[in-house]
Amino acid sequence: MTHPAMEYKNVTGRIYDIQGYAVHDGPGIRTTVYTKGCPLRCLWCHSPESQRRELELGYLPVKCLGTDLCRDACVSACPEGAISRGEPVKDLRASGMIQKPAIDREKCSGCLKCAEACMTQALYASARDTTVDEVYDRVIKDVSFFKNGGGITISGGEAMAQFEFTYNLSKRLKSRGIHICLDTTGFAEAVLFERVLPYVDLFLYDIKHMDSARHEKLVGVPNELILSNARFIAARGGALQIRVPVIPKLTDQESNLRRTAEFCLSLGEAVKLVQLLPYHKTGRMKYDRLGWRYKLANVEPPDDVFMGGALAMFQSYGLNCQLH
Ligand code: SF4
Ligand code: SF4
Repeated sequence: MTHPAMEYKNVTGRIYDIQGYAVHDGPGIRTTVYTKGCPLRCLWCHSPESQRRELELGYLPVKCLGTDLCRDACVSACPEGAISRGEPVKDLRASGMIQKPAIDREKCSGCLKCAEACMTQALYASARDTTVDEVYDRVIKDVSFFKNGGGITISGGEAMAQFEFTYNLSKRLKSRGIHICLDTTGFAEAVLFERVLPYVDLFLYDIKHMDSARHEKLVGVPNELILSNARFIAARGGALQIRVPVIPKLTDQESNLRRTAEFCLSLGEAVKLVQLLPYHKTGRMKYDRLGWRYKLANVEPPDDVFMGGALAMFQSYGLNCQLH
């Protein structure tokens, strides 16, 4: 007979991080597993490395020793000639100047040979492939920290886009009685939500815009499937923590926020909490690391007065609502 753990051995997934002591990804203290790949392209995405399923080349200049010290390891590893010695810059570790690599993203094919050659991981792959077993063994070490209703959150990207991995990881962790949150855009087939529902204690569920055409402009897909899946989960007894990004001029119109509140109310007792997420710029530097353009450079976070008003409005509907 096969040991129960063995059946998960060959279920693989692509993840870009695992973080312990997470306090913003559901109740209590949690460990969050971040999967890579997402069908949405939110303009304000603060995890651009999570979007594409493919591995990308990241570059963290602060870790770079300079091409002299490395004897051009990354420059000569590149088969496309996409890396050259950059302009001399001040060496922050010692006096003098060093040259760091200049990456021509147009020429880069994403082969990641330079990342393999880079000993300091200044050049790195944006994710790695793993198995349910490996992730289970890693996160189970954190069990003693899961205080105040904490547990594991499977996040993304879009965790449902790697369904077999997410499903099997949830199932395995649930067999140990661990509290599971699934952080999702809701953009997946309803039948998949039906399968995973028995193993998920709480869905962290984004409602980004109530107007479908506007939704598609902002995130790349319409909202009908997302709204119908929220209704589906609620009707089948699932618990939802709705998250509403408040992005100035993009999602913060009063009419949109009111429609969102009304939608949350229509889901009844399934909605345990509504969280308003004010726009912030903390993900911006990640775009630089990937060599991508950050499209919301001119957008400023909403002020406290606005967020206080939005909070009061949601609460006026009788919703349990808080600022994130
Ligand atoms: S990117 Fe890596 S291999 Fe290239 S110079 Fe910097 S530390 Fe050396
Ligand atoms: S990932 Fe890009 S820059 Fe790095 S070795 Fe491959 S082609 Fe060159």
